[in-house]
Amino acid sequence: MGIPIHIPTALRQYANNQNSIEIEGDTVGEILTVLADSYPDLRHHLFNDDGNLRNFVNVYVNDDDIRYLKQKETELKPGDAVTIVPAVAGGRPVTETGAPAQGLVSDANVTLSKEEIERYSRHLIIPEMTMTGQKKLKAASVLIIGTGGLGSPLALYLAAAGIGKIGLVDFDVVDATNLQRQIIHGTNDIGRSKLESARDGIANINPHVEVETYDTFINSDNALDLMRPYDVIIDGTDNFPTRYLVNDACVLLGKPNVYGSIFRFEGQASVFWAEKGPCYRCLYPEPPPPGLVPSCAEGGVIGVLPGIIGVIQATEAVKLITGIGEPLIGRLLLYNALTMSFRELRLRKDPDCPICGENPTVTELIDYQQFCGIGTDEDQIRLEPEQEISPQELKTLIDEGTPFTLLDVREDYEYEICNLPNATLIPINQLERRVGELDRDAPIVALCRTGPRSARATKFLSEAGFNQVRNLVGGIIGWADTVDPELPKY
Ligand code: ZN
Repeated sequence: MGIPIHIPTALRQYANNQNSIEIEGDTVGEILTVLADSYPDLRHHLFNDDGNLRNFVNVYVNDDDIRYLKQKETELKPGDAVTIVPAVAGGRPVTETGAPAQGLVSDANVTLSKEEIERYSRHLIIPEMTMTGQKKLKAASVLIIGTGGLGSPLALYLAAAGIGKIGLVDFDVVDATNLQRQIIHGTNDIGRSKLESARDGIANINPHVEVETYDTFINSDNALDLMRPYDVIIDGTDNFPTRYLVNDACVLLGKPNVYGSIFRFEGQASVFWAEKGPCYRCLYPEPPPPGLVPSCAEGGVIGVLPGIIGVIQATEAVKLITGIGEPLIGRLLLYNALTMSFRELRLRKDPDCPICGENPTVTELIDYQQFCGIGTDEDQIRLEPEQEISPQELKTLIDEGTPFTLLDVREDYEYEICNLPNATLIPINQLERRVGELDRDAPIVALCRTGPRSARATKFLSEAGFNQVRNLVGGIIGWADTVDPELPKY
């Protein structure tokens, strides 16, 4: 009997990029063991050294029948489907709706001008909204962290909806690769501060919105002060340290955290509010190891996806402020653009959650880079100086006609975007298996996009007995920047 196992996007690279794999077996334990045996690269992402499922991964049988499959003996029957979800979820929500019926803010002391009444008239005639709801939006303040893929639609729609004050946190500059999805910025904004560009975008849509900009990288020293003045915090970032930082700061301040995340064709959204339901740490007690879940810069994202997830976040913010409807508290919404489907998983508040549980161990903000294992020795491959080569040195090597193997460890679709002549293409995940294709006697220069993957390849090959392996510092992007400006960058 074959049971389909759905593999989440982030893990597909370890399973020959398959969405679904059918495996025969009678229990969850059996089929997961076969899965790990068939795809050895997957094993350490699913199991820890003791052979137990890791904390940031959970496994579901079917959509509704959610069980904790730490009980590996859970029996399977024909027609069942197993889904691996890189999250801990299950149980029932702590509260039925969790929504403050009156909304987060009061409409007292707020008036709407004639111009505003016209502008918001399609809101005012909704019975659930009316003048009262619109005044609440005007009285409310929202902090949007990040003005990128998610922050763009968030800022545009919240401004159009008439939020009184929008705070924007970013430190980045608009570049050409942003424009495929970061729709608050335009071609003429390339090179400008994202904050300035977003401020202009908001002013163009709705001059009644007060915009406050914070040109800074949000961190443990400034997060509480940045968030304290705002009613709702929206997480529009794309990295794990900031996600945990935003979560913990919101828990400590008692504020709702409207969460969204995107990757390739899939997105997630929820509202984390420790006073009413689970927080982000209840969902993901520990971050995935560095490098497991690629960022959009590394893994790509279809341009419309942040539009969909960002607009869901904006909707949740409007609902929280006005007290309309049922917020996504205690629910994780999963969206798949390829199948055009939404799924919803119930989240439970974890009584042992380190920050919102019964006996919290995290009582102040911590070092989130360290918590997520970023910048540690394990994360960074350290090479000796003689194991590195600069783009200029590589050019000299090529110009002199010295024989060597140029090993490109990127994916084939990256190779198609730009490449160097006569390179041997072996993607990093295939290197171990295909190492026999390389000439052990020839010097090797390894390259990838910016250097980390080829650094891993350099280390691996050196340890495998190749003695003249060097890593191209800065990767093909570095080569384009210093040697060949005509080469397209991505
Ligand atoms: Zn929690």
